Amino acid sequence: MIEFLSKFALSCTPYVAGEQPRDKRYVKLNTNENPYPPAPKVGEVLRGVNAEELRKYPDPESSKLKEAIAKVKGVTPDCVYVGNGSDEVLALCYPAFFDRGERVAFLSPSYSFYPVFAEFFGVETVKVPLQNGFADLDALRQADAKGIILCNPNAPTGTAVKKADIKKLLEALPERLVIVDQAYVDFCSESVVEYVKEFPNLLVVETFSKGYGLAGMRLGYAVGNPHLIDGLKRMRDSFNSYPVDRVAEATGVAALESLDYYRAKNGEVVAEREKFSRWLEEKKIAFSPSSSNFVFVNVGEGERVYRTLKENGVLVRYFSAHPNHLRITVGTPEEMEILKRELEKCL
Ligand code: PMP
Repeated sequence: MIEFLSKFALSCTPYVAGEQPRDKRYVKLNTNENPYPPAPKVGEVLRGVNAEELRKYPDPESSKLKEAIAKVKGVTPDCVYVGNGSDEVLALCYPAFFDRGERVAFLSPSYSFYPVFAEFFGVETVKVPLQNGFADLDALRQADAKGIILCNPNAPTGTAVKKADIKKLLEALPERLVIVDQAYVDFCSESVVEYVKEFPNLLVVETFSKGYGLAGMRLGYAVGNPHLIDGLKRMRDSFNSYPVDRVAEATGVAALESLDYYRAKNGEVVAEREKFSRWLEEKKIAFSPSSSNFVFVNVGEGERVYRTLKENGVLVRYFSAHPNHLRITVGTPEEMEILKRELEKCL
């Protein structure tokens, strides 16, 4: 048989996304989605979509959304890049900032897409182990790499570092790019976006998928110095000039006009996370203190507990690289009651 696939396609190790099952309705706590729907204004935008407009391409710059993000983040629009989910933005960071064979450092464990992007773009990696579940910023500073990707709060652990410590890292490494992935920042961790004006070596990447309940829309963005933003645009225009469609852009703007709604809903998620953490403590089940919308729980036999929970209608995330753990997304109070009941049965 003739092999049509490239050697790379045959040999690479792709990212494995969490399941989006269709067989039945689960209490779905496996992909860190927001348990609450997007703001009512988002629904209004969708109901008002004029199909006639869709014959035209979208604005490649997503100018309206960029302006809205810039306003909320306290920067000028030329400091903002908008993409098709933050995965795409993170992916484009690799060719924008690293040549093939150069090294990027990140924590281990951290977001499992980072090494996949590295393989895709031929970038070498330096993995800096967590210390007692937390980022070791001294080790990250000393890593022999051209740049750093720091996931804060980290995934899958949920643990966060303080912004003052990230500031020290930026000060210590003026010649190195520091990309901070703040996908989960809306659940009470400290944002470093304000440092973008001061530090030309900082790029902050965020998403509408978690704190804005818009994972189904695919919207992510980066905030950084205009030179870094230009690098991302050069990559975008070498790959897909229209990453954000018209409807997605309009929903992003509506979401940013609804910050009070999101503060309230994300506050409920945080309260539920704290309640779940206290329950784990009472039950003497070990977990990492989370600043995110998920908790990394040491259940002992991760795979068995994952399967039993799934059979009983509760879906959580199991990673074979962390056989003792499950990553459990924080759901509504009702969902968490079901989870706790089922978890208790299998432990
Ligand atoms: N960063 C981290 C740490 C994540 O967990 C995720 C979600 N899987 C992303 C980025 C990407 O999110 P999205 O592409 O939905 O914006």
